[in-house]
Amino acid sequence: MGKVKSMTIGNFLRLVKGRGIKKMPLIAGHKLLYSCNLRCRMCPFWRRKDERLLSLEEEIKMMNALQTAGVLFMGFEGGEPLLRKDLPEILEESSKRFYTSLVTNGWLLKDKVREIRDYVDYLFVSIDGIGETHDKIRGINGAFERAIEGIKESVKQGIQTGISFTLTEENTNEIINVINLAEKLGVRVNVQVAYDYSTAEKLSPSGEKLKKALETLIELKERGKPIIESEDYFKAILSSWFYNIPWICKPWITINIDPQGKIILPCYVIGEYRGDKKVWEVDIVKLWNEYDWDKYSLCNKCALSCYLEPSLFTWRNPRLVKERIVQPMIEVISSNFKKKLTNKKII
Ligand code: SF4
Ligand code: SF4
Repeated sequence: MGKVKSMTIGNFLRLVKGRGIKKMPLIAGHKLLYSCNLRCRMCPFWRRKDERLLSLEEEIKMMNALQTAGVLFMGFEGGEPLLRKDLPEILEESSKRFYTSLVTNGWLLKDKVREIRDYVDYLFVSIDGIGETHDKIRGINGAFERAIEGIKESVKQGIQTGISFTLTEENTNEIINVINLAEKLGVRVNVQVAYDYSTAEKLSPSGEKLKKALETLIELKERGKPIIESEDYFKAILSSWFYNIPWICKPWITINIDPQGKIILPCYVIGEYRGDKKVWEVDIVKLWNEYDWDKYSLCNKCALSCYLEPSLFTWRNPRLVKERIVQPMIEVISSNFKKKLTNKKII
């Protein structure tokens, strides 16, 4: 219940602090490093050389600045976050302040999951297809098997776990298989559309394939399949990219921080994830309210769920309130309960 309590207090503080202020970030994303043990073809990040990474103290400084600015949700990613030896300590600090999630490719997960289980609220493991399809996209043989072993162990440890599936030119026909696999493993699926970065292989799905995939996902969602994104999310991509009806992007809801602690503006995609000012050296709320966000409102260049989903959210849509607020709260409570049960079994 501690997490729900801190989220409720956090929401209340946002309301108090946010009076008269138009914009505050709600969700933060942070790449802990660029280095990775896989070689995904559509990924620009493993191709970058890491500079000196933030120390634990600097990570804490970053988290404090984000908390002061009103952030409630913190998502860690990479590169491969499990390569960082101080990951459990970083996650522990995050879990004291935020609803905390982590994305991993799963290669090291089976061995490391116990070290992090108490500090993550949601763990995403990337799966881009079954067996060879996944290994071919991810660039290393055996990646699929290791990721599946990791997912099984994560579920066993009582962590809320999801598959993160990136739609590419080479795997749109695997959607159903991946969703069936998720059902078998007892997890849900987060679906992203690959974005073509200038420094990686172009693998984003082409027109007709993507359209068909989005229509399939809407149908599967309607049938109650375990897909994390809302139906509105898939419909917004379809409307924007195929029928010229744009969605309004609000990139200010999400703040992304690079491995040196620098803020990415205006968003993850534009400028290709290169940060500028250190997060603890600026007044984030002031910056957020001075920045010219309006020129990006009709951008619609990407379909990243960390930007699109929150941009669609409105308290006036009961379905979104249920899916994005009520359901996650219930899941946090049930996951904490499962972890406690697992603890008892371990003892
Ligand atoms: S696992 Fe993630 S960070 Fe690593 S190469 Fe693949 S997409 Fe990039
Ligand atoms: S739609 Fe444009 S402004 Fe919005 S997150 Fe994507 S790239 Fe950034």
